Amino acid sequence: MAERRKTRQVKVGGVRIGGESPVSIQSMTKVATSDVKGVVSQIKRLERAGCEIIRVAIKGLDDAKAIGAIKKNINIPIVCDIHFDHELALKCIKAGADKIRLNPGNIRKKADIVEVVKAAKKARIPIRIGLNSGSVFARLQPQAVNHKVDLSSALIGSAFAYIKIFEDLDFRDIIISLKASDVATTVEAYRKMSQFCDYPMHLGVTASGSYDQGIVKSSIGIGALLLDGIGDTIRVSLTADPVEEVIAAKRILSSIGLRSFGPEIISCPTCGRCQVDLGSIVKELEYSLTACNLKLKNGGPLKIAVMGCEVNGPGEAKDADLGIAFGKASGVIFKKGKIVKTVEIKNAVKELLRQL
Ligand code: SF4
Repeated sequence: MAERRKTRQVKVGGVRIGGESPVSIQSMTKVATSDVKGVVSQIKRLERAGCEIIRVAIKGLDDAKAIGAIKKNINIPIVCDIHFDHELALKCIKAGADKIRLNPGNIRKKADIVEVVKAAKKARIPIRIGLNSGSVFARLQPQAVNHKVDLSSALIGSAFAYIKIFEDLDFRDIIISLKASDVATTVEAYRKMSQFCDYPMHLGVTASGSYDQGIVKSSIGIGALLLDGIGDTIRVSLTADPVEEVIAAKRILSSIGLRSFGPEIISCPTCGRCQVDLGSIVKELEYSLTACNLKLKNGGPLKIAVMGCEVNGPGEAKDADLGIAFGKASGVIFKKGKIVKTVEIKNAVKELLRQL
């Protein structure tokens, strides 16, 4: 794994992005922002799942007006996602937004951008310059349509045209994202961009698709970049409950060893020896441990093994701190390979949690 890229550090509320700070996890709410009760309830669920920064869509004045009330009821920084109308950004900054996301694809008038940058500077909050495939500036567009490599260059060219306006105003609390909906272009764009500036990067593959498709695309795209040492904050975009985005982000980060979020579950793939519904048992355990922060004394992840049979189970998983291997009607719980208890299948998850 490559050394992490050295980036400027920016502050989003109480969360630092870039520099030496850990790669943070973001998600986005999926209800109308003007529905304060609905948004707050979704953010509370996301907080419990481990979301560290939340973004909300600002479609109109009603959404911008709701920011103050939402902020009072949540514990993580709030990012306001602005398209088309720079006035909405100004309203959100006044209402206490911790960060603004602007899309260079649809806020292009220099005077408007300058106004937002000046307001953000006064409020001491950062701005994400969030490009996607549709954000490419018109003069760079012709090269972009035919060739993926050209699209990545066009994204970077458009980003720098925008960044110049910010830097001319001596504003450097910038975060960059260059999301295309295909993995190769996204990875190419971030890799190139990382050679030309030290602004922190927000990673993601945009419109990545359904839960299954999105997880594969995001894991490859975000994972490849993180292994290259690129990336300071991530959002996994899924057409699914946003809590799933946070769980997926945690799994990507812990699989690479960049962060640890409580116990790691190791489960066997099952085979003809398995006589229980192992998939459901693992899923139930995973959900029960979503908000669990238990770690080993050295800070490393606690390993829990869930094995489909007793024949190979405890032996195969003797490195696990805690585990269970199932027979036909019961399971044996073991610690570091030593059997400590036999439980009925229906009580297996409850007993594992008790032992934990
Ligand atoms: S632990 Fe048992 S059930 Fe699971 S893959 Fe190995 S042999 Fe098959």
